[in-house]
Parts: sequence; C-alpha cells; structure tokens
Amino acid sequence: MNFVRESFPVGPLQCNCTVLGDRDTGTGYVFDPGGHPERIIATVERLGLKIAGIVHTHAHLDHFLAAGDVRRHTGAPIWLHRGDKFLWDALEQQCLAFGVPYTAQPDPDHWLEDQQDLECGGRCIHTPGHTPGSASFYFEEQKLLLAGDTLFLGSVGRTDLPGGDPKALQASIQQRLYRLDEASSVVTGHGPETTIGNEMRQNAFVRA
Ligand SMILES: [Zn+2]
Ligand SMILES: [Zn+2]
Repeated sequence: MNFVRESFPVGPLQCNCTVLGDRDTGTGYVFDPGGHPERIIATVERLGLKIAGIVHTHAHLDHFLAAGDVRRHTGAPIWLHRGDKFLWDALEQQCLAFGVPYTAQPDPDHWLEDQQDLECGGRCIHTPGHTPGSASFYFEEQKLLLAGDTLFLGSVGRTDLPGGDPKALQASIQQRLYRLDEASSVVTGHGPETTIGNEMRQNAFVRA
C-alpha cells in the first residue's frame, strides 16, 4: 500500500476535510466535505485517486455542505451512520440556526455500520455522544484516527445540540477511542491534530 493523506479546513466553520487513499490501487475516500468543493476535487485529482466513498463523521451542517458537489464530480456514494439521518434531513434548519447559506444536498446513499471495513484498511467505529450517529474511522496500519467532532486537542465535542448525550460521549471516548494504539495520530473535526496518548493523559474533559 502506498498511503497518502491530506487534511485541510473547509467551509464556513472550518471543518477538517480529509482526502486519503492508496496510490497503488488508486482507490481513495473523501471524509467530511464541509465546503470548498473545488479545493477538495483539486486535491483528489492531484493525488490521482478514484473516490470509492464520501464518508461523514456526522451530519452537522459544517461537515457535509459540499457532499453533493463532490458526489456529482466523483460519482462516489455518500455514507452516513443512520443515527444522524434526522440531522441530515434538517440541514436547512441547521443552516438557519448558524446563519450559513443553505444549499440542498442529496440523501446519503448508504448507512455506515459499526466495525464496517473500508477499502484502504480503514474501519468505522460508531462513537455516539456528540450526535447519535457520530462515527470515527481508524486506519490501523497508519495508526490514524479520524475523530470528527467526538475528540479535539484537549477537549471533546459539545453535547448540547439535538441528540447530544454526554454519558454516551464519555463512553465512546473511553471504551472505543482510548483503547486504540496510544501513538495514533488523531485528525479532529476542527483545529489541530493530536494523538490518542496525549488525550488519554491531558484531555480536560475525558481521560483514560
Ligand atoms: Zn458537530
Ligand atoms: Zn463540526
């Protein structure tokens, strides 16, 4: 495997979008296309990847406002955990609440399952709490976690929005994420990257 990965902030709330894949097979994924579709598509083309899926850590507006554009351009299906369907369906209300221009998005094509394998060696981990359908994605060989808004550098996702559950968030982080290899890099939903070990010892809200 010749793994490549680029993560960069997109959209009105600077959500971290990740494009990754295997240059040997040419297969890749786009995670959380929250905006700036032209930048995402340019990254996909520069890396020479054929996108197998457009995958979402959850359905807050800032993580999927470019899903339709990326789908139209790549032909890849949209994936979401079913627990966040109610949020995906409420995109217009979410945009109103956050003062962000609304653009309609297509429905998800497929529902993600806990422990589902992705190509390129990835695996879905259902991590409810920030939202009921929040999912993280772990690439074991690369020791890489895409955590969405579940875990941040020194912090955790808010649980005061519809469907948020602080107990579930704590359980997801302690029982699922903190059992991964401590050396794993964590791409968070917003802001800088961190590592599992760093958060196990220093997170201000949930420690191991
Ligand atoms: Zn969120
Ligand atoms: Zn977010």
